[in-house]
Amino acid sequence: MSYSLQAFFRAIAFPVLLFIGAISAVEMGFADLTPWQDLILQTPLLLFAATIILALRFNQTRVIYIVLFLALAWANSGKVENIDYFSFHPSLFFISQLVVLMAFSFDQNKVVWGRHGLLRILVLFGLLAINYRFNHSITVNEILSSQVVALSSASKLSPYFQVELIISALCLFTLAVRQIMKPSQLNASIWGLAFGVIVIQFGDFTYYTTIISYCLFGVLIIHAVLTDSYQMAFSDELTGLAARRALLQSSISLGKKYTVAMMDVDHFKKFNDTYGHDVGDQVLRLVASKINDVKGGGKAYRYGGEEFTVIFPNKSVSYSIAFLEQVREDIANYQMAIRNDDRPDDKKQGKSSRKKSAAKTKFVNVTISIGVAEREGNLKEFEQVLKQADEALYRAKQAGRNCLAE
Ligand code: GH3
Ligand code: MG
Ligand code: MG
Repeated sequence: MSYSLQAFFRAIAFPVLLFIGAISAVEMGFADLTPWQDLILQTPLLLFAATIILALRFNQTRVIYIVLFLALAWANSGKVENIDYFSFHPSLFFISQLVVLMAFSFDQNKVVWGRHGLLRILVLFGLLAINYRFNHSITVNEILSSQVVALSSASKLSPYFQVELIISALCLFTLAVRQIMKPSQLNASIWGLAFGVIVIQFGDFTYYTTIISYCLFGVLIIHAVLTDSYQMAFSDELTGLAARRALLQSSISLGKKYTVAMMDVDHFKKFNDTYGHDVGDQVLRLVASKINDVKGGGKAYRYGGEEFTVIFPNKSVSYSIAFLEQVREDIANYQMAIRNDDRPDDKKQGKSSRKKSAAKTKFVNVTISIGVAEREGNLKEFEQVLKQADEALYRAKQAGRNCLAE
């Protein structure tokens, strides 16, 4: 699995730090928000509305249901006078929130309306109905109060503390697994959301702080929806490198000095013809990861097809060459293990043993050619420098490939 625990912590860092930072600032009195009080009380509703509009626009179905439930939680925590509809069982509602977060984190983005939507709405209403019905019911209270370990009688915690604790741990664990299996900012933010909901439940906060955390939830979801869309538009699906759009975007902020390298896999058409397009894709991924390891401050992009670009901001050609040569050699010396098990003639053999399929791991290698150019003299525009690098690449191909040309 390429996704590590470290990456998980990096992904949840923003939601968790934002939440802890803001809540501590308010609780400890670092930030006096009294003048904004009236505004803040209304803000969650505005943010939830904005989130739903955004989610509809981006077809992020699960966001809509999560936000609907958060909005209810917000209304539930609000001590709105003369409104009893939203008085749910505090423990049960807390658990319901976690269940919703868990369930909808596994939800695929399907169309908002129709059968799928109806089912989800039924689930939500089912949960709410249970909450409402059993708010003062002795049966559920009894079930919830069955304790695993006796709590000290001096404890001021909720009588359902242990059940809440177990569900909380389960929820955080499930959401972490979900994020590791299918990483996205939204999944990371859902983890942060669950964390926040749990902190509010167990912490002894003022009503005001609670409302601020609901504002943060709205901000976190909006941030996640936008981050994921940005990620989709600016990163390359196959290799995970930044895509050409990102290259053009970052070219705007390059200074007066930089070096551009264009790279192209040698005889890749022939490679595809020999091993098939799927193996070609695997090789592109491996080549991309080697290029991405470039040292010396280079930033790698997939320009398109089997072509890659590396930018060295504030660096000259003479500085960059050593690092590019290193990448070229790494790729040339790299024996790539290729799983070749769905080639047509393998399928014919049918029940191939484990031993046989292990023997089908082939080792292949490819080479790349590199052309470099630097911004200097009358080469002022990024497109010009890029073109110059492309011409150098052509010369490298002419010179016999697996080499670098200026
Ligand atoms: P040269 O050494 O001159 O670069 O030869 P080449 O065969 O690499 O040149 P050319 O640019 O004509 O061929 C590029 C080939 O790369 C064409 C296409 O089959 C293959 N290719 C481009 N994008 C992909 C991709 O995403 N996946 C796979 N598997 N192949 C790709
Ligand atoms: Mg090419
Ligand atoms: Mg090529």
